[in-house]
Amino acid sequence: MKIKTRFAPSPTGFLHVGGLRTALYAYLYAKKNNGSFILRVEDTDRTRLVEGSIENMIHSLAWAGIEMDEGVCLDENGNITQKGENGPYIQSERLDIYKKHIDELLEKGHAYHCFCNKERLDEVRKMQELNKMPTGYDGHCRNLSKEDVQAKIDAGEEYVIRLKMPKEGVTRFTDMVRGDVEFKNELIDDQVLIKSDGFPTYHFAVVVDDHHMEITHVIRGEEWISSTPKHLVLYQMFGWEAPQYAHLSLLVNEQKAKLSKRHGDVAVEDFKEKGYLPEALVNFVAFLGWNPGDDREIFSLADLEKEFDFDKVAKSAAVFNREKLAWYNKQYIKDMTDLEFARLALPYLKNAGLVDDTVDMELLGNVVALEKERMEVFTELPESLGYLFAKDLEYDPELIIWKKATKEETKEKLEFLYAFLKNFAFWRQETLEEEIKKWIANNNFGVGDVLWPMRTALAGRKNSPSPFEIAGVLGQEETLRRIKKGIEVLG
Ligand code: GLU
Repeated sequence: MKIKTRFAPSPTGFLHVGGLRTALYAYLYAKKNNGSFILRVEDTDRTRLVEGSIENMIHSLAWAGIEMDEGVCLDENGNITQKGENGPYIQSERLDIYKKHIDELLEKGHAYHCFCNKERLDEVRKMQELNKMPTGYDGHCRNLSKEDVQAKIDAGEEYVIRLKMPKEGVTRFTDMVRGDVEFKNELIDDQVLIKSDGFPTYHFAVVVDDHHMEITHVIRGEEWISSTPKHLVLYQMFGWEAPQYAHLSLLVNEQKAKLSKRHGDVAVEDFKEKGYLPEALVNFVAFLGWNPGDDREIFSLADLEKEFDFDKVAKSAAVFNREKLAWYNKQYIKDMTDLEFARLALPYLKNAGLVDDTVDMELLGNVVALEKERMEVFTELPESLGYLFAKDLEYDPELIIWKKATKEETKEKLEFLYAFLKNFAFWRQETLEEEIKKWIANNNFGVGDVLWPMRTALAGRKNSPSPFEIAGVLGQEETLRRIKKGIEVLG
């Protein structure tokens, strides 16, 4: 049997990192088993639709490297389209399919019309709460006669269609993450299957669709586990084989609270914008609840496709540790060539007005390489590299005076240095350090007496890479110009 998994978001906004993990695990499980991964859009809650969210979610998935084999996708113009044999893959386009199946359940007596209005349902709930009883529908319309139902429909009364949940027995299943799970049927509500607007609820649509789309493994968040028995009962009523289930644990922050927008970024697009690399985010997210069973930590998507499995997915809540994510980003950045790094850095530097399209990429590669080992995210770059592009650095003369020296001594050292560097016939980053250090030693200068003013005059700030690295990147002319400026600043 061909393994088929799906990711089934509701188009209510952006792709949450928790959603990315669900999609990733579903995708990986399909790839690992030569199966297919499907994207289905669950848009039956018409009140929560957000324009543009389908496109946005697909973009976020594609950025992460997750492509669907079947289902909803975007064409080359960025418009929503669908591919595959078992469509449509957007629930609002499947109403006739749900209609056919709800009629079948009504026919078999597994579902019923319910005419209770909101006031009555509120009243029932209030009484249940008052009596400390479990809340849920009280079955008022469960046994209406066919004639009564027809008369009410003819009179134009609004209704929903509910599942006639068996009142006895237990529903069991073996979850791929949580093991054996069971629920007492009597505690399960007569779930609404079709709402008064004629749209199916999630519970009904998900079963019909997973069946028709031949989904073999349903991978989703833990919040759905208590819904699973309702779904399994529906499979039984239809006489369909149910899929396997894997319910993924909650994502929490370091304070063990559910990960939410109030505690910082949660949308995949936010991480993208902040300058996280897709490889780093995917690697990090894969490890939120999974690990390979040894101490390896760096996994590309292709590695994950080979290694991922549910036997190593943990039941306990996964902690979203932002420092770890930054660590992953650093690892991936370190491994890039300077040119690759410069290409990714370019939009951030352009945005900050530091360079334009005419910039020499090779040169830029040398410049940004200064920060490659240090930086965590690309958004830091304009701030950390801005001084290299500055036409004129503004700084206080105090900055360049070495703490053990006077202003005059500092100025003198810079003047010596200027004269020395001016005579360089070859300006090579690799040899600058050696030559300058040799010159300092030969003249019996203090190392700090020369290198502190040199570095601060070149960078215009306290913290920066070494003076040799900066001078190498700036080139001879600009280095001399900045040293001269330092001399002038000292008056
Ligand atoms: N539409 C549901 C959601 O937004 C999908 C749940 C499922 O995968 O069954 O989370």
